[in-house]
Amino acid sequence: MKRLVYADNAATTPLSPRVLEAMLPYLREAYGNPSSLYALGQEAKEAVEQSRAAVAQCLGAQPNEIYFTSGGSESDNWAVKGTAHLLAKKGKKHLITTKFEHHAVLHAMAALEKEGFSVTYLDVHENGVVLPEELEQALREDTALVSVMYANNEIGTIQPIAEIGAVCKRHGVLFHTDAVQAVGNLTIDVKAQNIDMLSLSAHKFHGPKGVGALYLRRGIPLANLIDGGAQERGRRAGTENVAGIVGLGAAIQEACGDMAARAARLTAMRDRLIDGVLKIERSRLNGDRARRLPGNANFCFEGIEGESLLLMLDASGIAASSGSACTSGSLDPSHVLLAIGLPHAVAHGSLRISLSGQNTEEDVDFLLEKLPPIVARLRAMSPLWEDIVNGKSIS
Ligand SMILES: *Cc1c(COP(=O)(O)O)cnc(C)c1O
Repeated sequence: MKRLVYADNAATTPLSPRVLEAMLPYLREAYGNPSSLYALGQEAKEAVEQSRAAVAQCLGAQPNEIYFTSGGSESDNWAVKGTAHLLAKKGKKHLITTKFEHHAVLHAMAALEKEGFSVTYLDVHENGVVLPEELEQALREDTALVSVMYANNEIGTIQPIAEIGAVCKRHGVLFHTDAVQAVGNLTIDVKAQNIDMLSLSAHKFHGPKGVGALYLRRGIPLANLIDGGAQERGRRAGTENVAGIVGLGAAIQEACGDMAARAARLTAMRDRLIDGVLKIERSRLNGDRARRLPGNANFCFEGIEGESLLLMLDASGIAASSGSACTSGSLDPSHVLLAIGLPHAVAHGSLRISLSGQNTEEDVDFLLEKLPPIVARLRAMSPLWEDIVNGKSIS
């Protein structure tokens, strides 16, 4: 069989075999509805509550602060729109976020702008990190919510979440963080970090797709996004995705259980990869070198189109990404790379390699063997490349 190195774990991760095993009974014999009072229903309810406890434990939260959703996008929409719609009634119609959030937050914000809310988009600077003092300056009397992602999905940079949480607390403003890329990779303690709301998604840490959670600090008011039955204590209607929730619980236990050792191993692999790739002439690493997710490396190669690079890597048995999975397929430059100040011409040509605990040193060897000759071949075919090496910069 042809070798495949899967290096796109920021887009999604392979399901852990143990997670699949944990889920199977709930797709087969234990199919009850958790709202049913007979034993079959109560068995399903019990499994959902065990997962809730596992999620809470990983975040330093209480189980009754965890609400299951259909994934990261729903959790983000719920936190942002639910807060905005409730606090607008108190005259608070200003929101703060950053220029490089996931589209689930950015497009939720854009929808609110159309409804008459005003939104401040903070800069993330060249290294891809938000400055808490700039956030503090952006706060207004009518600010309802601050939403800053924990770690960026394209360039992997980690934000000063505890400092941001402290600023929000000092000013009495609610703080939401999209932690979809952080869970299982970085230590999270919602109480110590003053996080009021946090989004996570199972398929980013070897769980199933289509299931996630929102942590909502006890006592925080939030308008419902999905109305209907009384599931999730009346705050998120719909019959529970029992097998998915069981998978989420098993995956978060696995991911948080051996996080420190895995992060150390991944960081060493990532750094070896970065050192090797930066030997390619006219290449650069995007985002801060040290303050980044253990498995994330994001590069630009002058004179190279991201899309052609991906196709050639695919033909060599490497699955990676250009920009984010949501935007590849379109020729738009990445909003994240534009936010850190890269010119349009360069922002087209990025390569994101994202490793997970299932990757090996041999995978890194394979990437370092295949990538440089592909870059060289594409440059040899590029009409721009000669201009670049002769000093006629394209950007
Ligand atoms: C993947 C991702 C999302 C969306 O999560 P889904 O479960 O796929 O809806 C949101 N935010 C970030 C940072 C992500 O990486």
